[in-house]
Amino acid sequence: AIVIRNLDKWYGNYHVLRNVDLFVKPRERIVICGPSGSGKSTLIRCVNHLEEHQRGEIIVNGTALNESLKNIDTIRRDVGMVFQHFNLFPHLSVLENCALPQILSRRTRRKDAEERAMQFLERVRIPDQARKFPGQLSGGQQQRVAIARALCMAPKVMLFDEPTSALDPEMVKEVLDTMVSLAEEGMTMIVVTHEMGFARRVANRVVFMDQGMIVESNVPDAFFDAPANERTRRFLQQIV
Ligand code: ATP
Ligand code: MG
Repeated sequence: AIVIRNLDKWYGNYHVLRNVDLFVKPRERIVICGPSGSGKSTLIRCVNHLEEHQRGEIIVNGTALNESLKNIDTIRRDVGMVFQHFNLFPHLSVLENCALPQILSRRTRRKDAEERAMQFLERVRIPDQARKFPGQLSGGQQQRVAIARALCMAPKVMLFDEPTSALDPEMVKEVLDTMVSLAEEGMTMIVVTHEMGFARRVANRVVFMDQGMIVESNVPDAFFDAPANERTRRFLQQIV
């Protein structure tokens, strides 16, 4: 489970997250949406300490995120992250992208790491791309490599930051399908996305952020069919 309580963060003088509360139970899927600059990326990057918060608490599977490097390590081991721009290592093969993190941070033996990499490349249905380099793959394939790479580390929680927004339309579906099947297997997920079809289908709860605050949070049907907040309504009108 993830507990975020009374979270405040500043970039210099800029108050980017304002008293954010978010609770994610095991196996729950939360979708976060909201206008550009509302703090969505900052919020999920705080969860694995890619950004530092100044006030409030973040607890991941019972471990509190504080200055302790040991806790940060423990949390990062549990939390996988997938970014908008894939963030693959361009000079490493697809297989190596998936194997090397295991070898370096888990001290997995190469043979086992490569076997596990192949297993997850099969899981995202691109085992045939294993020997290629990221630059030789389509965007959708690269994003599935990024998902496989994260899954190789056996995360308990997956964070997705607009995983499909850099993709051509015809590749969005293959990545969303991968995420749907991950959800069906019971992965705990926080997904920043504006793919509202995905949100309706997969989310237990949809959260709308504006100006660093969570403005509205509800089950998908109520969120989309009867948004309570005026800003949520305006936002939804713009994106559909
Ligand atoms: P988008 O939909 O465009 O990805 P977002 O909701 O993810 O937006 P964030 O990236 O979290 O928004 O940014 C929130 C605010 O914080 C923005 O105003 C942004 O300019 C600012 N910001 C983000 N990163 C930094 C940084 N490293 N230093 C200073 N300000 C930042
Ligand atoms: Mg963002």
